[in-house]
Amino acid sequence: MGKTLFQKVWESHSVATLSNGQTQLLIDTHLIHEVTSPQAFGMLRDLGLKVAYPQRTFATVDHIVPTDQREEPFSDSLADAMIKELNRNAKEFGVTYFDLRSGKQGIVHVVGPEQGITQPGTTIACGDSHTATHGAFGAIAFGIGTTQVRDILATQTMALSPMKVRRINVDGELRPGVYSKDVILHIIRLLGAGGGKGYAYEYGGSIFDGFTMEERMTVCNMSIEGGARAGYVNPDEKTFEYLKGRPYSPKGEEWDKAVAAWRAVASDADAVYDDVVNIRAEDVPPTVTWGVSPDQAIAVNEQVPTVESGTNPEQRISIQEALEYMKLEGGAPIKGTKIDVAFVGSCTNGRLSDFREVARFLKGKKVAGHVKAIAVPGSQIVDVLARQEGIDQVFTEAGFEWRGAGCSMCLAMNPDKLVGDQLCASSSNRNFKGRQGSPTGRTILMSPLMVAAAAVTGEVADAREVFSLSA
Ligand code: SF4
Repeated sequence: MGKTLFQKVWESHSVATLSNGQTQLLIDTHLIHEVTSPQAFGMLRDLGLKVAYPQRTFATVDHIVPTDQREEPFSDSLADAMIKELNRNAKEFGVTYFDLRSGKQGIVHVVGPEQGITQPGTTIACGDSHTATHGAFGAIAFGIGTTQVRDILATQTMALSPMKVRRINVDGELRPGVYSKDVILHIIRLLGAGGGKGYAYEYGGSIFDGFTMEERMTVCNMSIEGGARAGYVNPDEKTFEYLKGRPYSPKGEEWDKAVAAWRAVASDADAVYDDVVNIRAEDVPPTVTWGVSPDQAIAVNEQVPTVESGTNPEQRISIQEALEYMKLEGGAPIKGTKIDVAFVGSCTNGRLSDFREVARFLKGKKVAGHVKAIAVPGSQIVDVLARQEGIDQVFTEAGFEWRGAGCSMCLAMNPDKLVGDQLCASSSNRNFKGRQGSPTGRTILMSPLMVAAAAVTGEVADAREVFSLSA
């Protein structure tokens, strides 16, 4: 009987079965950033330990780093302290560090693939929930907490419970104006925010075969929002082409050997899955969230659900709470909801292709007068490449602020925050209460082009209408 990629990687990285039933798993690559690593390094120091395999750990600054003021010392004293701490730890423990002066700094999930650090058949861990992004390359990648960061620094292993594998096929053809972000929002809407609990998601079908690596990353990124701890796409020629020539990709003979191994790690044709879900690509609409969980999502031309539409008391309560928090009326169209802020960025949609696609339509348009719009490249490399193509200029001429690389308004640990109950049209991945920096701030998740449509109209809008795309 064939095996899934997940099973193959799990088995080849399994060090021991622990008495509690968990597996001690070898972690090939550990990605760290300024926010979840300081305590872990502190614990190592307290225990008198070194980083076991420093060459397997890569650091960058992204979560708290300011996107406007890029020179140290930062006026935000917490950011300044955390970044100084990472500088110190990276130096003392000998780990590779893509700092602000490196030209390679950026969101950890953008930097890993960009540098060729993310490779098929490997295990990757990072103290950020959206580590599944790296699954786009056929890696098994997990978000972890600070104590696990410590464990991996000290032992290069971590304890994990085994998972089932759900294959999600999306076949057919996406309609114009429908993007990979819509695909994952649609999947989460169908299966629920907790639907993937206990599963790793394997994404496949003609849509994933046709997707670029960046589109695959967008989908894998949000696996955790559907409850799955990991999500991946089997490696193929596109994966190899993307990785070829990257700084940390294998070279020469090693490259050929690596590609052979990467091909072999893909799921077998006769692999057996614990569950299979089939989705028609034609059924995926431009999708937006209306509530405070990523599965509270609807097509942009649908109405916000009413409390009565909940199928059980629990659901009715959660709809009511979400409507109250979002200040939306059940039964009203989501289209036309006034926005205050527009954000294009994050590890979900802060890559070059995202900015390129928006620029194609934004050229010559203006952001509505009442909207604050910011565009935040996912890395310094994305920033440079976008500038080379004049993309930054298209954004700034339209009225966006073009910032330095970082997480920015995805979680607003830096000064890029919502104020009061401002509503943000956001290309990021989480719409939880208070996620964007204000305890009453509101987030509507959508694709980057839909953010642009909202920015220019000043309200939630259908990008197909705003930019004359035929539906
Ligand atoms: S952009 Fe958001 S989800 Fe991505 S690494 Fe930063 S904080 Fe985490």
